[in-house]
Amino acid sequence: MTLTCLGAARTVTGSKHLLETNGHRILVDCGLFQGLKELRERNWQALPVRAESIETVVLTHAHLDHCGYLPRLVAQGFNGRIFCTPATQNLAKIVLADAAKLQEEDAERANRKRYTKHSPALPLYTAAEAERAMTHLQPVGYNRPMPIAPGVTVEFINAGHLLGSSYARIVIESSGQVLLFGGDLGRFGRPVLPDPTMVERADVLLVESTYGDRAHSPDDNGARLASIITRTAARGGKIIMPAFALGRVEELLYWIHDLEARGQIPTLPVYVDSPMAAAVLAEYRARAAELDPTVNDQAPDGWRQKDRQTCAFCTARLQVLSSIPESREVQESSSSSIVISSSGMATGGRVLHHLERALPDARNTVLFCGYQAEGTRGRQLKDGAKFTRLHGRDIPVAAEVQSMDAMSAHADANEIRRWLDGFTRPPKLTCLVHGDLGPMDALKARIERELHWTVKTPNHLETFELPT
Ligand SMILES: [Zn+2]
Repeated sequence: MTLTCLGAARTVTGSKHLLETNGHRILVDCGLFQGLKELRERNWQALPVRAESIETVVLTHAHLDHCGYLPRLVAQGFNGRIFCTPATQNLAKIVLADAAKLQEEDAERANRKRYTKHSPALPLYTAAEAERAMTHLQPVGYNRPMPIAPGVTVEFINAGHLLGSSYARIVIESSGQVLLFGGDLGRFGRPVLPDPTMVERADVLLVESTYGDRAHSPDDNGARLASIITRTAARGGKIIMPAFALGRVEELLYWIHDLEARGQIPTLPVYVDSPMAAAVLAEYRARAAELDPTVNDQAPDGWRQKDRQTCAFCTARLQVLSSIPESREVQESSSSSIVISSSGMATGGRVLHHLERALPDARNTVLFCGYQAEGTRGRQLKDGAKFTRLHGRDIPVAAEVQSMDAMSAHADANEIRRWLDGFTRPPKLTCLVHGDLGPMDALKARIERELHWTVKTPNHLETFELPT
């Protein structure tokens, strides 16, 4: 039995782990490489095995760096089933349709402006290819072992990292061996998502190490968000929040509702203006039972369960905008409100129109709520740019610009350690994946020092024998 890391080995994107056992090939996760060009180019390189020789794919969650390569895999001849939880199935449909659209638009723009050395520039995959890949998805509920190949079962265990997220527990029936593929690990004691499920045993463990050398800043119970909203409202301004459409919008709505209920902020109109975020929000509401119990407590006492679910993530004056005219009306209005819109790094999407109107006015605040990668407009604004180029014009920045980096869906080093403490005996082998070299090496050293486990940090495309 061997494992080959086809991605997320000593880097944080492109998760793909190929398990080969008794002549069967199972791929756990099928993610896109993102970020630096040198990584993104890997999305165009051929896999070291033929796609049609892979029997089954197991998907831990719907983030693009875990599912975004699926359309390409199917286009290359993969013809098996893709097992995942029902929420992951629905979110993956939203995410992949959006990814295909962006890739088609990028290719079209490159051809129109002729800034490509490929002629013509092609999208990595088309919307039609994304749709075709989705027909392979096979939903399986949490905690239900399911045969995926002769003598091999998978069971999904809630990882608390995103709606539908899981660890894949793969059992080899002939030997009784348990392999636990941790996709990404969630956090303890946070609203919206449940704590990561504790696990007692695995023979082989794969665990992420994104924040393997860091501790997240302590939770301030919404105090900073409250002060930003209150002072902006006091000067009659708007708060524009560029937010990642998948998961982050729900966390923001949770906090705004909570601060309203505690009387810490004025009750303002809150607009969610992103078609993708609206679709994701509907999925979170429909599956509130899979979330942290605090989500269901948002409804007033005595409400029926069904009303409670539609009320989850409701602020007092929430409006989910769908049409462009509705969005335009909010852009043009100068009354105080909170606008949550994508993309999270202000690289595209409807948030650009809100920024174009809001940035020149000193009464307004732009609040970034997630990581801002190098080279993005979000990063420039966060770093204090005086102008930003939007829709062909230089827009002066007079608005207050703030950022909150504390919201992360990934466990930090202490939380990973807390989760590992649940094991009643050491795995025979622990592999650290999904981390850059520094955090990965720091976590490896910590696990070896504190727990005395055998830890490996596999290389990209390295194949290694798994202990029996
Ligand atoms: Zn993730």
